[in-house]
Amino acid sequence: MDYIKGVKCTAIVLAAGVGKRMKSDVPKQFMLLEGKPLLYYSLQTFQESFIQDIIVVTGKEEIEYCRHEIVEKYHFSKVRKIVAGGKERYHSVYQGLNAIEECDYVYIHDGARPFVEQRMLTDGLEVVDTMGACVIAVKAKDTIKLSDDKGIVKETPDRDYVWQVQTPQIFRYDEIKKAHELVMERDDIHITDDAFVYECAFHKPIQLVMGSYENIKITTPEDMDIAQVFLRRKKRNEALKPFDIKKK
Ligand code: C5P
Repeated sequence: MDYIKGVKCTAIVLAAGVGKRMKSDVPKQFMLLEGKPLLYYSLQTFQESFIQDIIVVTGKEEIEYCRHEIVEKYHFSKVRKIVAGGKERYHSVYQGLNAIEECDYVYIHDGARPFVEQRMLTDGLEVVDTMGACVIAVKAKDTIKLSDDKGIVKETPDRDYVWQVQTPQIFRYDEIKKAHELVMERDDIHITDDAFVYECAFHKPIQLVMGSYENIKITTPEDMDIAQVFLRRKKRNEALKPFDIKKK
């Protein structure tokens, strides 16, 4: 693809959460899924992509484990740095942004989402190149209600316009870094994703790009069971591919 030539992209893969809702001794990003740490799967996708550099953000105590048991063991040669994260997710993102020396576009991704696809990376690049910011997302399947602080329904947004955002979220590097610098100084907002940092700082458009209902974030123990089903199906489909080609 021509539009990829000459453009430098970096992925920040976040793995510094403590994963309280998983109720496990091991941080969820290192739990084993079909024999490999969860973090392996998204790193493998970025490693195989057009993206040139990867920064892994993890807990201070897990840096060495991550280096030996994941990055070196699985030969993730695009991982340039492994840095310590912060208290909240956006602090970890900021550490990742500071670890980048230079790039045009940055892909911010939750290491707890093993099923990011190549298609999302290329679609994202095309869109960020024209729009400046984009977020992988899916249309909400359920009706969403907004409530007041007592749980009384206040509003029912039209489902056609309700999306659940996922990662990667993709930005111009200099813009998202600037947005973090502006927003870090404020204590009046509750930041839950990268696009929100960008929205607060700039009021510029962010394009939603179709993700996948399989691009789940592993949060609670049952998500690991679901991930196992998805992964086994993926492996079955991959094993079938050469057979299909032969048949034609
Ligand atoms: O906690 P949650 O599931 O929302 O985390 C989403 C992603 O952000 C996970 O991959 C987690 O490891 C990462 N994270 C982080 N630093 C934090 C909190 C979460 O890197 N302080």
